Amino acid sequence: MDACKTYDAIIVGAGPAGSTAGIYAARASLHTLIIEQGMPGGQIATSDMVDNYPGIPSISGAELGSKMLEHAESAGAEVAYAMVNAITHLDDGRFSLETDTGSYVAPVVIVATGATPRPLGFAGENEFRGRGVSYCATCDAMFYRGKRVFVVGGGNSACEEGLFLSHVASDVVMVVRRDEFRAPKGRVDKLLARDNVSVKYSTSLVEATGERLLGSVTFRDNKTGDQYTETYSEGSFGIFVFAGNDPVTELVTQLADIAPDGGVVTDENMATRTPGLYCAGDIRSKRLRQVVTAASDGAIAASAAYAYIQEASDVLSTN
Ligand SMILES: Cc1cc2nc3c(=O)[nH]c(=O)nc-3n(C[C@H](O)[C@H](O)[C@H](O)COP(=O)(O)OP(=O)(O)OC[C@H]3O[C@@H](n4cnc5c(N)ncnc54)[C@H](O)[C@@H]3O)c2cc1C
Repeated sequence: MDACKTYDAIIVGAGPAGSTAGIYAARASLHTLIIEQGMPGGQIATSDMVDNYPGIPSISGAELGSKMLEHAESAGAEVAYAMVNAITHLDDGRFSLETDTGSYVAPVVIVATGATPRPLGFAGENEFRGRGVSYCATCDAMFYRGKRVFVVGGGNSACEEGLFLSHVASDVVMVVRRDEFRAPKGRVDKLLARDNVSVKYSTSLVEATGERLLGSVTFRDNKTGDQYTETYSEGSFGIFVFAGNDPVTELVTQLADIAPDGGVVTDENMATRTPGLYCAGDIRSKRLRQVVTAASDGAIAASAAYAYIQEASDVLSTN
């Protein structure tokens, strides 16, 4: 394991929040490290197209995510690809971060670990995860070329991903719990304009079964309570789940308060109850989880972190 490395600011996560925090921290001349466990871009890298980021009417999510991290690097932030396993608040006020490739220490840490897809909870969901049950159309659509897919959910993501899948799958069956979609009408209309998209309204998915791959799926009619099973040849269909996201808070549960919605409680400067620890982006308790709000959080957190280091420099040693 490498010797412990010291920075002014360490950012966990290279999604929109983390990369933007990196831009602002590095431009404030903080010696900055961004640690990312996977691909740059976070969740947005799994989105086929982003059309609501100001100034960029249309861009692939992967490109937007990469450009943000490249921007942070060009501003001077360093990037390490590793999984952060633990964050410890040291007696001297600084933080120690343990990763699978080494340890790092900094007086401020900005945690921007985002959110992860929420499982729906139907029987067989875990068993068939990655073998017929997916949470990312951009990642997995190609496995279902020419096959039927069930898309579970009635919100924005479900509609966006259903539309994407309709260009790859033979047919898309939207499974919507209520008798209407939650997504805006324009997005729903665009989806339903596709010839190969149909909808099961007031329906929940209760079970998926099969030998090695998915073979049958059981639904419940939420108006009557009746259940019925549809059986197909194994591996001939898939289930895509879009039931919302859960904030990824494991690293900070001992250091920050968690709100009833599962997100981290911060003040308007993105500060948690632990001095020097900030959270930005989808990890926070907030109403609107989007790229633009994540980027805004990252900028605010880095600016507040800079002010914190200036004020606390007499008690914190960054050497
Ligand atoms: C399919 C889909 C489509 C979307 N479409 C849009 C859209 O069109 N417009 C829009 O504005 N928003 C959209 N969003 C929402 C948007 O992607 C998120 O709001 C945004 O990405 C949140 O950014 P973030 O930086 O807070 O977190 P994330 O994007 O979740 O990034 C967090 C990063 O932290 C990393 N990480 C997590 N834990 C660790 C760890 N322990 N160690 C190291 N790294 C870690 C993750 O690998 C990830 O890269 C979409 C989301 C999805 C899923």
